[in-house]
Amino acid sequence: MTSPQAAGAAQTDIAVEITGLDKWYGSFHVLKDIGLSVRAGEQVVICGPSGSGKSTLIRCINQLEQHERGRIMVNSREVGPKVRDMHEIRRDVGMVFQHFNLFPHLTVLRNCTLALTRARGMARREAEAVARHYLERVRIPEKADKYPSQLSGGQQQRVAIARALCMNPKVMLFDEPTSALDPEMIKEVLEVMTRLAEDGMTMLCVTHEMGFARKVADRIVFMDGGCIVEEAPPATFFDAPKTDRARLFLSQIL
Ligand code: ADP
Ligand code: MG
Repeated sequence: MTSPQAAGAAQTDIAVEITGLDKWYGSFHVLKDIGLSVRAGEQVVICGPSGSGKSTLIRCINQLEQHERGRIMVNSREVGPKVRDMHEIRRDVGMVFQHFNLFPHLTVLRNCTLALTRARGMARREAEAVARHYLERVRIPEKADKYPSQLSGGQQQRVAIARALCMNPKVMLFDEPTSALDPEMIKEVLEVMTRLAEDGMTMLCVTHEMGFARKVADRIVFMDGGCIVEEAPPATFFDAPKTDRARLFLSQIL
């Protein structure tokens, strides 16, 4: 859904701008001439068959993977292996993975405060107040002193979202955040993501949850074979896909 912020967005409110992006894994050309521009406050869903390069693309945005050609800008700053202030850029970009990636030996609260105290130098007490605020927001404040293994998958993923939000990111990247969850837990995570979207968070989500995509996304980006094949508002993409490849993909997942 378009937030007021996004509706009035000018050129300067571009949160992520990718131009002519190419990446190889060895000799395998995984991303081919990707161009993608995401406005501040916009929610973009990336979908496509397994192996099409979705994870690689979003991992390039926070440089968990490095590209060989092209340019990635986050909030008007270039992102790349040669960029010196990557720490600063990375803190603007929150990431939520399929497998939560919480630290098992730390409590929920400490999982959330670790980066604040270590990377930002925030006092422990202040960090804990921030963490409790976001645990509240994902509706599990009562789990603060538990360990990840004491939580359900859905609760762990909500902690992972809270942890990312603690850094006050300008952009949130989600890589199949509900794919590892049992069906009954998918909803609680999608609800949290929907509320984030409603609050105007800029989001890029790789997901196969097409109900969520239809309801929340401003735009669907369909990838196949390392290329962006189609880009359209959800109603257009789902009801009248332009390419055979998108039609085939939709027939397999819907
Ligand atoms: P998706 O997320 O759309 O399933 P990925 O970005 O994970 O796709 O992967 C795209 C392609 O790149 C796949 O063929 C995958 O096997 C390959 N790939 C992914 N990561 C690596 C890697 N670290 N080294 C070599 N090949 C990789
Ligand atoms: Mg993937």
